[in-house]
Amino acid sequence: MISIRNLSKRYQNLIIFQNVNLEIDRGDAVAIIGPSGCGKSTLLRCINGLERPTEGEVWFDGMNLTNSKASLEKIRSRMGMVYQSFNLFSHLNVLENVMMAPMVVNHIPKQKAAQEALEYLKLVGLQNRSFHMPNQLSGGQKQRIAIARCLAMHPDVILFDEPTSALDPTMVDEVLGVIQRLIREKMTCVIVTHEMEFARKVSNKVVYMDEMGIYETGTPDQIFLSPCREKTQAFIHKLH
Ligand code: ATP
Ligand code: MG
Repeated sequence: MISIRNLSKRYQNLIIFQNVNLEIDRGDAVAIIGPSGCGKSTLLRCINGLERPTEGEVWFDGMNLTNSKASLEKIRSRMGMVYQSFNLFSHLNVLENVMMAPMVVNHIPKQKAAQEALEYLKLVGLQNRSFHMPNQLSGGQKQRIAIARCLAMHPDVILFDEPTSALDPTMVDEVLGVIQRLIREKMTCVIVTHEMEFARKVSNKVVYMDEMGIYETGTPDQIFLSPCREKTQAFIHKLH
């Protein structure tokens, strides 16, 4: 579904990553792990077109997103993004947050958008918070609303950038639980995370990134139990 080919990103002379190649298939749950500053967020932003790569291409269902603005516009709404910092619209209540994009971008009538929004709020366990404002919610609740808001656009893939890093530890599991459920239901997910146990348990592909780019890719067992390459071994070793 998504094919990342020879992707490189530089800021002036600063190389963030080079020659990144990655295939993401429908139904994949890809965990991207690696040290802080190695370019994980930048890679996600290159995938959804928020950032232009210096070289290389991102393909989505046979369309090259890198050199076609039209393809990117077409695909954007099919790629959801969930950020560490939730990014809810603070002046809208929960239901409105979830209804907004379907109404504005997809021109779904208000009543239908509300009906669907409620379904997604139910899915993340927050239908009884519909009329709360974001500042009346806990971090875990805000993040589950952000996920519901993504789902309301019927994305083909959701990119998560450290979805639980800003959360109080007591709230991490409620958010990971929702993501795990999406993965079980075969939503394609790409998750940058420092939650290694979660990555190991729910992903089918693990990507270890280091300075310069993707250093090793494998199944969770390969990466977490018997990584082939030295830096991956050192990174995994440090976790124990
Ligand atoms: P973390 O785990 O801390 O979130 P990360 O792996 O997501 O880190 P990125 O945020 O992708 O890392 O940043 C990769 C590198 O790119 C960092 O060294 C950062 O300073 C640099 N960088 C990011 N954005 C810019 C920019 N606009 N201009 C220059 N350098 C940048
Ligand atoms: Mg980051």
